[in-house]
Amino acid sequence: MPFAWAAGVRCAAVLSFDVDGESGMLQADPKNKNRLSVMSWARYGPKVGVPRILDMLEAKGVKATFFVPGYTAELYPDLVKRIHDEGHEVGAHGYLHEPVSTLDPIQEEAALVKTCTILEQITGRKPVGYRAPLWEVNPCSAEILARHGLIYDSSLMDDDRPYTFSTPAGDLVQIPVHWTNDDWEQFAFLYEPRIGSGVIESCEKALQVWKEEFDGMHRYGGAFVLTMHPELIGRPARVMMLEQLIDHMRSRDGVWLTTCEEIAHYQISRSAALASTEV
Ligand code: ZN
Repeated sequence: MPFAWAAGVRCAAVLSFDVDGESGMLQADPKNKNRLSVMSWARYGPKVGVPRILDMLEAKGVKATFFVPGYTAELYPDLVKRIHDEGHEVGAHGYLHEPVSTLDPIQEEAALVKTCTILEQITGRKPVGYRAPLWEVNPCSAEILARHGLIYDSSLMDDDRPYTFSTPAGDLVQIPVHWTNDDWEQFAFLYEPRIGSGVIESCEKALQVWKEEFDGMHRYGGAFVLTMHPELIGRPARVMMLEQLIDHMRSRDGVWLTTCEEIAHYQISRSAALASTEV
């Protein structure tokens, strides 16, 4: 049965950007801080990629979701403020890009609170959304998010559509992702350290994969959530490719190109309406 989007909507689509910056490389190995070429590869994201992406989104009139680690926000507060001031959503993405599978619940909660505080100090608004670094999620993660007032997570892969589930601290919306819809698989090549997919695909191939995935979601009425990293997707040819993808999505009927936050709010209101009709 098709998902009950709002009237006139056939599927949703989100452009989401994980602004890892240097945090991922430092998390992988603190010694990377002295590897200037490696760090420069990572720095390209916040230094060049995000401003170029923001300019493109402005020209296209598209709002997107940016998940930012606390460490990246501390290094680039003006950039995070610009993202927020231009009407995009800023969500949390760990402090130093910690895979939470390596943390106990107290450490996991501390990283979340620290990052939310940093982001709120910069934007004036507490994040409502979270994406786990590396999409690693613990059994306790949802409850921690709900306890701190976040309304959604976008890290799991068990559906094509948003869904609501209960935690001891309240409900949480899940906005599913998938490796197919991630630029990491297409473009994440580093010679050393061997982090990433180890390939550099052409824009043509990546565009083809994502068009196919989007068309499938359009056919079945799901939410197409594209996960991207500005150090990869922010390169000139790839931003041009992203413009083509936006044009493709807009050529189809009933496409709601929006943010994760808007999808979460829609799902919350939908769940409330369903609950009231069941009483
Ligand atoms: Zn990340």
